[in-house]
Amino acid sequence: MIDRFVSVAHEIYNTSGAIALHAPEIGQVERDAVMRCLDSGFVSTAGADVGAVEAEIAQYTGAKHALSTVNGTAALHVALMLAGVKSGDAVVMQSLTFVATANAVKHVGAIPEFVDVDPSTLSIDPVKLRQHLAERVGQNTVSACILMHTFGHPGKIIELQTICQEFGIPLIEDAAESLGSYYLSRHTGTFGEIGTLSFNGNKIATAGGGGALLLNSSELFQRGRHLTTTAKTPHAWEFFHDEVAWNYRMPNLNASLLRAQVSKLPHAIQKKRAIAMKYKEFFKGSEIQFVDEPVEFARGAGAVEDELVVQ
Ligand SMILES: *Cc1c(COP(=O)(O)O)cnc(C)c1O
Repeated sequence: MIDRFVSVAHEIYNTSGAIALHAPEIGQVERDAVMRCLDSGFVSTAGADVGAVEAEIAQYTGAKHALSTVNGTAALHVALMLAGVKSGDAVVMQSLTFVATANAVKHVGAIPEFVDVDPSTLSIDPVKLRQHLAERVGQNTVSACILMHTFGHPGKIIELQTICQEFGIPLIEDAAESLGSYYLSRHTGTFGEIGTLSFNGNKIATAGGGGALLLNSSELFQRGRHLTTTAKTPHAWEFFHDEVAWNYRMPNLNASLLRAQVSKLPHAIQKKRAIAMKYKEFFKGSEIQFVDEPVEFARGAGAVEDELVVQ
């Protein structure tokens, strides 16, 4: 079985111009964008590409604001600070995720608590989340929940939001792996007040390294900007920083590469879908279960219209 799988994977890779899970696709558009940035001299934080890519990400996802960061872990760290998570709090998250999700929780001095995923979505299981939160009632230490949309498969966001509301905690979406994924016609990461993205080299759009917060509140956006830019108060020449903060800015050089990658997103998603269908075909009838896109996925870029049923 495994041998046959490996040979089919190779065949798909060689014949379809596959977009691999981890290898970025860098073409002329990217080369031109990066060269333009180098020629401008603005390689660091004062260039125009940072603001431009933030606007493009906000537009693409439908978030009110996108706030770029140096990587996805930094975006998660800031997300937790914006959600008001304090040292000693507990943060509930799924056990199937990248280590960054748990690291960010530790960076604010909080304690990650793990809940299993639902095998049909690969994201946090609503039934188990409810059980976990119910067991913690009275202990009063859980201050947030992080949902991660594994490999672009959206979790059961509405159900999870309802549970979190019931227990009075914010739901943060780690959408690092789900740029281009929609749920009920809405982009993942934009359901609650705070979502995060990553643009590491293994993601569907890369900045080399980079991340972003998706925010629907202007107040949180301002606060996030302050925390990620050394808490410098605006002034023509004075350096006055009104609190201890971070240098979490995305460099302009990375933003220039990211703009080129974002412009190619529909193409990248379409290709990934076509490849997924080949794997689905391969596993048909075997003992291995293929995880389908949920029907609620709906109307993302490249979605096959006649397969969609919006509930
Ligand atoms: C990639 C990723 C991140 C962020 O990683 P960075 O390398 O810091 O950009 C966070 N969470 C998940 C689930 C990821 O896959």
